[in-house]
Amino acid sequence: MKFFVLFFAVLLLFTAAAAHAASVELGSMQVFPLLDMQGESPVSLLVGATEDQIVRFVPGGELQSQVLAFLVKLPDSTVLFDTGLGAARGGKMMEALKEANVSPSDIDAVFLTHLHMDHYGGLTDAGGKAVFPKAALYVARVERDWWLGEKKDENVRKAFAPYESRLHVFEFGETPLPGITAMDASGHTPGHTAFHVKAGDGELLVAGDILHFAEIQLPLPQVAVKYDTDQEKAPQARKTILDMAAERKIPVAGMHCPVPGLWRIAASGSGYEKTGVIQGN
Ligand SMILES: [Zn+2]
Repeated sequence: MKFFVLFFAVLLLFTAAAAHAASVELGSMQVFPLLDMQGESPVSLLVGATEDQIVRFVPGGELQSQVLAFLVKLPDSTVLFDTGLGAARGGKMMEALKEANVSPSDIDAVFLTHLHMDHYGGLTDAGGKAVFPKAALYVARVERDWWLGEKKDENVRKAFAPYESRLHVFEFGETPLPGITAMDASGHTPGHTAFHVKAGDGELLVAGDILHFAEIQLPLPQVAVKYDTDQEKAPQARKTILDMAAERKIPVAGMHCPVPGLWRIAASGSGYEKTGVIQGN
């Protein structure tokens, strides 16, 4: 409950945005960043950053906040990674999808990085119906079991209800669809997942909430956020995923990174730095 009070308090600072980022070709895949929301968040959400570090890396005193989903057209399927907050909560992801000339019925699969509202909220409309009429829904078994079993979360239950017959759970390390491998990024939530996507010679790391506030968590990956279920494990997952991206030079798709949310990164000091933004055309 505490999470949602905090979350919606932060949301008040958001301004809805429908800006459209152009698509990017990576090998045999086409990636469309879909902006759902953007605004600012207070530095009080940070855990483990000193006053000096905050002054240095967040000089304006407000953290940049945005919510993105990513549509990926693979040779054999059209896949959506996360769904934003949902139109009923002011999310603009569906408008961005329309601008990309993709209809909800074109989507074959929805992959969820984790079960926070800003990632699964767009699964259903205001009436509780499935927004994606044909899509299979994929989520980590650990994540589903945590929210539906342990937490008995009513919002997640309602969002999943219309997808019950097409819900697929996976284990970390599995490849639920050709070219998409689930990677253990747990810590932010117990089943938080990053996805390694490969098509032809193109690769992408869909990083979920590995970077909440990139301006400080790239240089200081040890900084956690109040939303992290496990504030010690979340930074470790950040390092594992970002090490892979840096060493293998794989572009990162961050759900909360500034538009277009597609970055190249490299190791730098005891953290990382952004070396390029992948712009579309
Ligand atoms: Zn999030």
